[in-house]
Amino acid sequence: MLSGKQPILILKEGTEREQGRDAQHNNIRAAMAIADAVRSTLGPKGMDKMLVDSMGDVVITNDGVTILKEIDIEHPAAKMIVEVAKTQDEECGDGTTSAVIIAGELLKKALDLIEQDVHPTVIADGYRIASKKACEILESIAEDVKPDDAEVLKEIAATSMTGKAAAANKELLSDIAYRAVKAVSDEENGKITVDLDNVKIEKKHGGSVEDTELIEGIVLDKERVHPGMPKVVKDAKIMLLNTALEVKKTEVDAQIRISDPTQLQKFLDEEEAMLRKMVDKIKASGANVVLCQKGIDDLAQHYLSKAGIFAVRRVKKSDMEKLARATGASIVSELDEVEDSDLGYAGKVEEKKIGDDEMVFVTNCKEAKAVTILIRGGTEHVVDEIERGMHDALSVVAATLEDGKITTGGGSAATEISLALRDFASSVGGREQMAVEAFADAIEVIPKTLATNAGLDAIDMLIELKKAHKEGKKTYGVDIFAGKPGDMRSKNVVEPMRVGTQAIKSATETTVMILRIDDVIAAKGSSGGGSGGGAGGGMGGGMPEY
Ligand code: ADP
Ligand code: MG
Repeated sequence: MLSGKQPILILKEGTEREQGRDAQHNNIRAAMAIADAVRSTLGPKGMDKMLVDSMGDVVITNDGVTILKEIDIEHPAAKMIVEVAKTQDEECGDGTTSAVIIAGELLKKALDLIEQDVHPTVIADGYRIASKKACEILESIAEDVKPDDAEVLKEIAATSMTGKAAAANKELLSDIAYRAVKAVSDEENGKITVDLDNVKIEKKHGGSVEDTELIEGIVLDKERVHPGMPKVVKDAKIMLLNTALEVKKTEVDAQIRISDPTQLQKFLDEEEAMLRKMVDKIKASGANVVLCQKGIDDLAQHYLSKAGIFAVRRVKKSDMEKLARATGASIVSELDEVEDSDLGYAGKVEEKKIGDDEMVFVTNCKEAKAVTILIRGGTEHVVDEIERGMHDALSVVAATLEDGKITTGGGSAATEISLALRDFASSVGGREQMAVEAFADAIEVIPKTLATNAGLDAIDMLIELKKAHKEGKKTYGVDIFAGKPGDMRSKNVVEPMRVGTQAIKSATETTVMILRIDDVIAAKGSSGGGSGGGAGGGMGGGMPEY
């Protein structure tokens, strides 16, 4: 560049820099590697991954975003692909693998175009045009769903669970997901919103997945603090307390010198009196259940028990908030200021044995807008994977209720988009047209991967699929079990439209962002620099280790 002259150093020593094609190639390849890492998990016949972290903890999952969150990724561009999965997860809760695979394929096709001397900004522009059009196509083939169409909403939930451990019990689990989302949904001016924070998931291993149940109310993985307390409280008046029922220890280490035994007794008596006073205040408030976010002193437990009050200590903050919503209680921190209106109500508060442990059930609440799904299953790994499946199911039902639009899955919508985009490409013209066509090719990665993962020939499948779509069979997708194209609508493989649009949008945005980078300047010691060491680490190597 400076043709033999001494280069002028403007960057700190140790800074790594990659420019032009090198930077583009390495970024694209690193990002593609991430897509390859999750590809085999896509669809009903997708495989699982076993991830072992540095502490030796094992996670077995089929969930794209979970895999990408668990593995340690060094390369900056690869990290951007992980963001695609995270965004998808936040917006829809499902379709994370699909979004990542689409992004990987868009980048791969872009690389081909760059090799043919199409400038990255032209590709980026073409991709943006194609993405917008793809969403329009998706919208045009989407079907409307009414909020009371329970059947379809449960099918949506069931589709999201296929390929995951949850699929074995999908009837039960999709029914639970549907009822849970319905219970917490709100309607205002004809617009439905769902706050999934109101659905609490509690896990307890032991028993089997079939024992999983939906509880209208809140379940706490806690037991009452004293065996003398009642096990069941009907018409519970609940106090939510966020201070400890303990005598405050001083911050500084104070030493109290006691010279004769009566002084010691006086000291203890005083402590006892303070605790007794606290319990008296609770009693006076009319509460018969105290759920405390902090600790409860042994002596206070004893007094509470004598007063017939049911108490639980160290309740999680997030649970306290859910309890407040469900029971209508306010969380109080000053016992002196508790008013009757601060107390919440539940028809029943009960301690029950689930598996080997006791759990507290707060049910028949005044404001039923909070439910708990109690997930059961043989082992911790099973319960965890069921939870991830349930998360997807809840999210897709919520998305469908909110938007009221669904599309068919199994690569059917992708095939339709791909065909329509190719028709549209000719109207774009110029070099951008090449990018729109590349986009149309890239989106075919979904049916292709579904076929490959099911042990079918991807090319044959694609040819047959396109043929079916050209004959107007718009809902035909990969029928994994028959090994040929089939009607996904009649097979109940349906998804919220949002999963598709979001996957297209976030995959495109990130691809465009990566394409526009032609210079990577990495500070010494940053993950982008050579600090990863070895062949795989750092941007020089290009490939992340996984
Ligand atoms: P993601 O993380 O993208 O949701 P999944 O492993 O859940 O990945 O796979 C989702 C894909 O599997 C979607 O394209 C969906 O349409 C497809 N799919 C789900 N059930 C079936 C089925 N029974 N037959 C064919 N494809 C299916
Ligand atoms: Mg899924």
